[in-house]
Amino acid sequence: MNRVTMDKQANQAGEEHDRQGGAAVKALAAGEFSDMAAAFTSAGLSVERPAHGMLRLSRPSAEPKRMRLLLSVGIHGDETTPVEIVGRILHGLAQAPQRSSLATDLDLMLVVGNTAAIAAGRRFIDADLNRMFRDQRGDLAQTAEALRADDIMRATAAFFKGGPAGEKWHLDLHTAIRPSRYPAFAVVPDDIAQPGKLALLGCLGAAGLEAAILNPASAGTYSAWTAGRFGAVAATVELGQVGSIGGNDLERFAAASAMLDAFLATGAPPSAPPPAIFRVKQQLVKQSPAFRMAIDRMAPNFTEMQPGELIAEDGDVIYRVGSEPEYVVFPNPDVRPGLRAGLMVIRSAL
Ligand SMILES: [Zn+2]
Repeated sequence: MNRVTMDKQANQAGEEHDRQGGAAVKALAAGEFSDMAAAFTSAGLSVERPAHGMLRLSRPSAEPKRMRLLLSVGIHGDETTPVEIVGRILHGLAQAPQRSSLATDLDLMLVVGNTAAIAAGRRFIDADLNRMFRDQRGDLAQTAEALRADDIMRATAAFFKGGPAGEKWHLDLHTAIRPSRYPAFAVVPDDIAQPGKLALLGCLGAAGLEAAILNPASAGTYSAWTAGRFGAVAATVELGQVGSIGGNDLERFAAASAMLDAFLATGAPPSAPPPAIFRVKQQLVKQSPAFRMAIDRMAPNFTEMQPGELIAEDGDVIYRVGSEPEYVVFPNPDVRPGLRAGLMVIRSAL
């Protein structure tokens, strides 16, 4: 066979792989795992589908002391970059599951969070799913997202039941809705035990993340719940800006994708120097409809504010920067009263 023919065949094989990878992404976005589940079953793995949009893969009759990795995507329906990244990785795994750590050291659960919102091309149907991971949901208890959170919490509890905390990992993959001074960053629950936290920060460094925010308070997020309830090594990972499927620039997130590949290949988190560390100084909680932010609602994440500067007003409550510069993250004055309208963070040592 001559060189040109070989190149042509390689190109065709590459295109075929891309086409199948694209189909896998679409299936994942719809919470559909049938084709992939069949591939994993025929490779001898135990395949469970705890609820729509969820897939659990393990080795049959596994010993209890294995790494458990929970990957969640699409908790916000308009955040499709992680759906694409994980869809392509899963497609690769399904081609050769026996070459991954699934056959030996790692149990994997995949959760596609808000499949109804993904289908509708919206962030959520009734309310933000990533505020529902708590027992008290007040007047949001009857929303579509509250019911979906119940399903996810049930499947997650079954997955993380028993075993050492340090070997339960949860990466909840998102994309931010605004530009950011650090395009890829994470929010890390501060109550994770230190050895796990250090391993997590190294893993986030390996994923190309540039900043990590240690947050002592839960806002009802999925990762705060898995950390608090199961001692999981967990993070909310922001991989860049919202886009539509096919329109996301995956090259920018090659490091995150490579980190996940390495984790799944070896059954252990890869490690690199950690990102810059920030710590939450204030939570901006919207108390009433009178809440007003002094900063532009489209201000990039990690916009620096100076000591004493006005951040927001909410009737008699005034939020100001303290004695050192603070950086604003997730500013969103449009949330419902009672919810977090932003975080103020400061640079910190570990
Ligand atoms: Zn999100």
